[in-house]
Amino acid sequence: MASYPVDVRRCKHVKTNGTQCRSPALKGKELCFYHEKNRPAPAELYMDGERYCDSQIMVPVFEDAHSIQTMIQLVVSLMLSRRIERKDAGLVLYGLQIASGNLKMPAAEKAKPTQVVVEPEKASGTPLGMTPWSATGEGHDPEEEEEEPKEEGEESEKQDSPRRPPTVEECYAAMCAEERCAMREGFTKYGNITPNETTDFLYKRGPDPLLAVMQGQREAEACRSRK
Ligand SMILES: [Zn+2]
Repeated sequence: MASYPVDVRRCKHVKTNGTQCRSPALKGKELCFYHEKNRPAPAELYMDGERYCDSQIMVPVFEDAHSIQTMIQLVVSLMLSRRIERKDAGLVLYGLQIASGNLKMPAAEKAKPTQVVVEPEKASGTPLGMTPWSATGEGHDPEEEEEEPKEEGEESEKQDSPRRPPTVEECYAAMCAEERCAMREGFTKYGNITPNETTDFLYKRGPDPLLAVMQGQREAEACRSRK
């Protein structure tokens, strides 16, 4: 078992599932590098047609299946109680679908506590192949077993194919006609789909513009995650 210097505190962030973040807190702070930048954020709710918000919800950090599950439940209950419009709910649920797909990427680059930076300003001094801080509090630890977990990840990818994120076509196929309709309306509202494209699809057997938008968004998402 690894032992860590006592002066390095554990990040105080508690996930939606009740467990505490395992990463070290930044030096002199209470949160780790990731949670210092990604925190639950309030989102305002507007009553239909009103300009002032009358309540707000807390949007959790989308960091595990629990947080996404909690958000799905919240959105569904807000939609059923007519606090948000169905098309907005459709878009939020689609975003959550992408988020849950991203979580299934090979262990989502899960870092060991000692691989997480606690003093970002000193990161430039980390030697190649070493972690930013050591278990003894002096010098650096070698960044162990970088190859092995990758192999394991590849193996379990092969054996456990459901870990692969669903393709756009699978997402599309899993949606019912009403969901597609609500999403088409939502994307039309935001200008991603023109009314003509929808008319072509509904009455002239044209391609579903929703599928094209979903594919475009997935590509943009993949592009962002490569950066
Ligand atoms: Zn944290």
